[in-house]
Amino acid sequence: MAELPYDDRDGYIWMDGDYTPWRDAKVHVLTHAMHYASCVFEGERAYGGVIYASRRHSERLANSAKIMGFELPVSVDELESIKAEALAKSGLENAYVRAFAWRGSEMMGISAQKNTIHLAVAVWAWGDYFADKMKGIAMTHASWRRPAPDSAPCPAKAAGLYMICTLSKHEAERNGYADALMLDYRGQIAEATGANIFFTRDGALHTPTPDCFLNGITRQTAIKLAKARQIEVIERAIMPDELSTFDECFITGSAAEITPVAEIAGQAYQPSQVCEALVSDYSDLVNQRISMTV
Ligand code: PMP
Repeated sequence: MAELPYDDRDGYIWMDGDYTPWRDAKVHVLTHAMHYASCVFEGERAYGGVIYASRRHSERLANSAKIMGFELPVSVDELESIKAEALAKSGLENAYVRAFAWRGSEMMGISAQKNTIHLAVAVWAWGDYFADKMKGIAMTHASWRRPAPDSAPCPAKAAGLYMICTLSKHEAERNGYADALMLDYRGQIAEATGANIFFTRDGALHTPTPDCFLNGITRQTAIKLAKARQIEVIERAIMPDELSTFDECFITGSAAEITPVAEIAGQAYQPSQVCEALVSDYSDLVNQRISMTV
């Protein structure tokens, strides 16, 4: 069955202080965010009616806004209540939660100093990010690289940074792959198009240092879960010529959760012990069968 378009669904979206019927949650075409990508957002998942690491996401949204030079119209505490209420109102227990803030229409040039900041929270049902997740996804190389920290505001989860992600993901999908591995401006391995990446070698985890891409909340969770299992975690610069030296590979993200990788551009990986352990620990954690502060 075809997926319902995102602008034609039942329900409500919290927008600028009220619940708006889903189909009416619209912005004007002359909205600064649409022309200049002045928008920040979060992607979160709720499990059993509870948003995993909700406050961390709210704090990151506020911080992303700050990096972009604006303030959210609500406090982190208020955003926490709005998200919890929007989730409850959706009637969904397991759901994806998208909170986002953007610059409105008062000014339409590069400068947007006087623009009102808008905020919305939408909640929808979203299954696995990848089909056949546990089989392991196939990735290829991206043509686009993550920019240097002085070329883009890397720690912000800002809409503009996703231009190269969509380009890379589309190119990968055109070639029959599920996702793309992006290198950074130095040629080091960075991340997938919407998730961080990990490898294993001789039982230890290796993951790139997040110095020019998002230090994901799921990434930080996976590191803690691995350490709790006495798995050594090495954060370092990883070059593409090392891809043939690793045993397992997986990617992490709020939407992707922990997804094993079976191939990167012809290099095969066998999802086994470490992938299985961390997928299972992550599921226990987000479903509140175990607890751990992240
Ligand atoms: N990198 C990118 C580019 C992403 O879009 C995401 C998803 N937000 C991540 C990494 C992982 O972040 P998180 O685990 O906080 O969802």
